[in-house]
Amino acid sequence: AKAAGKRQWRRFEPQQRVRMVERHDLKAQMDGAIARGEFALCYQPVVDIAAGDVVGFEALARWPHLPTGPVPPGQFIPLAEESGHISMLGAWVLHRATADIARLQRRIPLPAPPYLSVNVSARQWGDMSFLDEVCTALDAAGLVPGTLQLELTESVLMQRTDQIDEVIRELKEVGVRIAIDDFGTGYASLRYLRDFPIDVLKIDKTFIDGIPQDSQQVALVEAILRLADTLGLQVIAEGIEEQEQRELLADIGCRFGQGYLFARPMTVEEGELVLRQRARG
Ligand code: C2E
Ligand code: CA
Ligand code: CA
Ligand code: CA
Repeated sequence: AKAAGKRQWRRFEPQQRVRMVERHDLKAQMDGAIARGEFALCYQPVVDIAAGDVVGFEALARWPHLPTGPVPPGQFIPLAEESGHISMLGAWVLHRATADIARLQRRIPLPAPPYLSVNVSARQWGDMSFLDEVCTALDAAGLVPGTLQLELTESVLMQRTDQIDEVIRELKEVGVRIAIDDFGTGYASLRYLRDFPIDVLKIDKTFIDGIPQDSQQVALVEAILRLADTLGLQVIAEGIEEQEQRELLADIGCRFGQGYLFARPMTVEEGELVLRQRARG
C-alpha cells in the first residue's frame, strides 16, 4: 500500500506543481486586477421562503476576465486571504456593493428596502481600518446602516480578539447587522452565540441538501431553528434547490432562504428587474 501511495504521489506531483504555479500567477495578477477594476460583483436574492418575496441580496465576488477563464471565488478568495490582497479586494467589494444597493433602493422605493449582505473574511475583521472602511462606504453610498449585513464565519468567533469585539460592538451601535455564514460547519460553541451580538444564522447548504429525505438532517435543522428562536436570531437557509426543501422549511418555520430554486446570483440590473416585479405586486 505504501508503494502504491508513493507511485500515486509521483503521478500527481507534476499536476500539483502546475497548480502551484497557477496559484502563484493568480496572486501576482491580483494587484493589477484590483487596480484595473477587473473584479465584478453579482447578487443572489435572499427571499421570504413562504411568500417568495426578495428581502435582500448577498454580494458575491467574480473575477471574469482572466485569459485562462473565470476563476471561482472559492479559489481566489482563499488566495487573496493568504496574500493579504483580501483587505484591498474586500474594501472594493464594500464600496461597490453599498453603492449598487443604495442605487437600487433609490430607484425602486419599497416600504421595506432590500438589504445588502457582504462576506467579510477573518483577516478583514482584524484590520484596524475595517470599521472606518464600513462607515466610509455607508456614507459614500448613502446606504442606511440598518440595511447592511456583514457575514462572518465561525472561525472568526473562535479567533476573537478584543479589537474584533470592539469593531463588532461599534458596528452594532451604527445599526449594521451581523450574520454567521455557513453555520454548522465550524465549531462555534453555544457560548459564542450567547455572548456575541449576532443577528442572523445562515444554515449551511450541507444541512439543507439532506432534507426532506434524511430525517436526521431535518431534526438538526429544526434544532437550529429552536436554538435561534431562543436566542432571538433570524435564520436563513442556504442552497435551497428543490421545491420539497422549500415546503419543508416553510412547514418547520424557517422564514428566509437562498438558493437556485429561487434565483441564482445575478447582475445588479437583473436584481433591479426582480425588485420591480415585487414592487408591482
Ligand atoms: P458563501 O458565502 O457561502 O456563498 C454561497 C455560495 O453558494 C455562492 O457561491 C453561491 O453562488 C452558491 N449558491 C447559492 N445558492 C446555491 C444553490 O442553490 N446551490 C448551489 N450548489 N450553490 C448555491 P460562490 O459565488 O461561488 O461563492 C463561494 C464562496 O466564496 C462564498 O460562499 C464565500 O465564502 C466566498 N466569497 C464570495 N464573494 C466573496 C467576497 O466578496 N468576500 C469574501 N470574503 N468571500 C467571498
Ligand atoms: Ca456568505
Ligand atoms: Ca454560506
Ligand atoms: Ca461557503
